[in-house]
Amino acid sequence: MAKILAVTNQKGGVGKTTSCVNLSASLAASKQRVLLIDVDPQGNATMGSGIDKHDQQWSVYHVLTGRCDISQAIMPSLDGGYDVLGANADLTAAEVELMSMDHKESRLKDALAKVEDQYDFIMIDCPPSLNMLTINAMVAARGVIIPMQCEYYALEGLTALMETISGLRETINPDLHIEGLLRTMYDPRMTLTTEVSRQLINHFGDQVYRTVIPRNIRLAEAPSHGKPVLAYDRNSRGAVAYLALAGELVRKHDIKGLHSKSERKTGTQ
Ligand code: ADP
Ligand code: MG
Repeated sequence: MAKILAVTNQKGGVGKTTSCVNLSASLAASKQRVLLIDVDPQGNATMGSGIDKHDQQWSVYHVLTGRCDISQAIMPSLDGGYDVLGANADLTAAEVELMSMDHKESRLKDALAKVEDQYDFIMIDCPPSLNMLTINAMVAARGVIIPMQCEYYALEGLTALMETISGLRETINPDLHIEGLLRTMYDPRMTLTTEVSRQLINHFGDQVYRTVIPRNIRLAEAPSHGKPVLAYDRNSRGAVAYLALAGELVRKHDIKGLHSKSERKTGTQ
């Protein structure tokens, strides 16, 4: 059964899409079968996977609103070794359309049932809000990955997200849990970064991934080439860090990964 993970944080610009794309590629490089689902109308994960968001016959919008079958809408990423169910601005309309539909919170989950068996990991990139699209992601998912920057306001908004997660666990998705908190754009030279990081570990303990993602220009450049960083500059610190994170996930789920110990260790704090 696939491990379905929603990458979410209602704050924008914290590294959700970067993490979703690069973790998908790194898991694929570790011989995992991966599907990335973009549920953000901005379509950044779609573009970052080398798929033109304006040129998709079928997208997650059509799947959620029952206009096509999920398998018709899945495409291979250009250079990532994983599959993509893409999104674009059409998806904004789905938020409204879903409101009047039956099982509005579980439409993604229901659609995924048809393809789940074909993957080891299904990674869902969420929009920067706690809207019906994010709810669909968290109802379909078993785990939530929360990327965050270690800055002054990092913890703000986390309470609302935690409450949403426990609300869903008590009602529609009893299996939902926090898969991990991921420190992104990490700069250990900044006192504030290390201080917030310490607070995070005090509060969340081993729910915080050991791997940290450094601030790395290659990670910011890769999407404009429609590639994950592994295909753009595989020796960059960003690429090494996401490979280490994939190793951490694979080990956590006790799956046989193919990367060497040294690769896994690099990038951990
Ligand atoms: P979100 O999806 O949470 O809005 P993104 O992943 O789009 O965030 O990241 C926001 C911006 O920061 C993007 O321009 C991205 O390229 C850049 N970025 C993300 N992670 C890193 C990193 N580790 N180092 C450098 N730039 C990064
Ligand atoms: Mg994003």
